[in-house]
Amino acid sequence: MSSESERAGGSEEGTSGAGSGSGGTGGVRFDLERETELRFEVEGPERVTLELLSGLGEVFGSELNRNKKYSFGPGAKIAVFTWQGCSVCLTGKTEVAYVSKDTPMLLYLNTHAALEQMRQQAERDNERGPRVMVVGPTDVGKSTLCRLLLCWAVRAGRRPTLVELDVGQTAVALPGTLGALGIERPADLEEGFSVQAPLVYHFGSTSPGTNIKLYNKLTSCLAEVFSQRCEASRRSSVSGCVINTCGWVKGAGYQALVHTASAFQVDVVLVLDQERLYNELKRDLPHFVKVVLLPKSGGVVERSKACRREARDDRIREYFYGFRGASFFPHAFDVRFSDVRIFKIGAPSIPDSCLPLGMSQDDTQLKLVPVTPGRDLAHHVLSVSSVGDREGEDGGKGAAGVLDSPVCGFIVVTAVDTQNQLMTVLSPAPRPLPRHTLLIMDIRFIDLK
Ligand code: ATP
Ligand code: MN
Repeated sequence: MSSESERAGGSEEGTSGAGSGSGGTGGVRFDLERETELRFEVEGPERVTLELLSGLGEVFGSELNRNKKYSFGPGAKIAVFTWQGCSVCLTGKTEVAYVSKDTPMLLYLNTHAALEQMRQQAERDNERGPRVMVVGPTDVGKSTLCRLLLCWAVRAGRRPTLVELDVGQTAVALPGTLGALGIERPADLEEGFSVQAPLVYHFGSTSPGTNIKLYNKLTSCLAEVFSQRCEASRRSSVSGCVINTCGWVKGAGYQALVHTASAFQVDVVLVLDQERLYNELKRDLPHFVKVVLLPKSGGVVERSKACRREARDDRIREYFYGFRGASFFPHAFDVRFSDVRIFKIGAPSIPDSCLPLGMSQDDTQLKLVPVTPGRDLAHHVLSVSSVGDREGEDGGKGAAGVLDSPVCGFIVVTAVDTQNQLMTVLSPAPRPLPRHTLLIMDIRFIDLK
């Protein structure tokens, strides 16, 4: 922690000469000077309420409205930043709450300004706008920086695209997927970006390393679709995209970043917090790519494995039950094994010497392997492929069709009845399933409702 930052042990004490408890019923008031931020974490079970009392403030690029109460639940790690100064009030028990003067926000804003200039130039010269890739090791604020840049771009009247390649913690769909989302408004302070009509591909696990071949292939698919979108929409093209990546930056993970940069014809790479990665990318990417090293914010909170797992579970629960589990009502119904076709992508790798003649290891990673439904399907998340029901039947050709087809939704197997050859599924929509080709994920979800 920087010495400039002041830390308060909990919400009982305010900082920066505030903490008079004058912010309403039992709340703690914080008076923030310009270019400072209030950081707080919620550890539940109680929720914490944030209210802007005066001035202007924003949370990860989205502006706070005056006298509106924002509520944050367990696991939330939030920063209220102010350019001009503001007063806010926190109600409820926070794990930590402190004000810091030491933030890289000005550097991030300058980065946004540079990108905005590139968009203006693209407009003038009838070119395409900046395609930005954000990279760095785990827990450096990659996702947060993406959110900031997208929010600021949309507030400047742009319609940028978020490309989400972090299969572990995605802001677009469920874990285990890669996706893209057209951003039309700043993220909701509590809920994040509105995910209407995202483009989603099935990957199947939370780490790109489980099938790097498939990961790179799907990245290329997304890049292809994004290019088509840019052809069709001048506004999307000028606005460009922000690509969020995984924290795996060594070996095949690093190669995947290089692949992404080339597939998307990236113009700018923002490297958070790691000089080594910065130098490697400068060395390996074409000279016209601007590689920029940015510091991480001292506010970024490291998350444990358990914490990430919980965040993933929350994400899946949200998909079925809506935000805070209160807005959607999922359906449960039986699906006969004979009515669906379940695949896993990628055969387990076997030694080269054991492969059939003429087959390479790559082929096994992109192979569509039929799954015989049984008890061990229980609790697995399945992607419903948008592929037509008749394709995919004949081995090779159909397999390519399934890989390249986006996902139209997800179900969870809640019970398996082998005797009657059927499974019960949790689905956002009532029966019947819209399509009958299902792709199994490594990821499980226990439905507690
Ligand atoms: P991962 O490696 O898991 O993808 P990341 O590099 O994307 O992590 P973020 O998800 O952006 O990191 O940030 C980690 C956590 O820190 C998040 O919960 C985020 O809300 C929080 N955070 C980020 N910036 C700040 C800040 N300035 N103050 C307080 N919390 C912050
Ligand atoms: Mn992230």
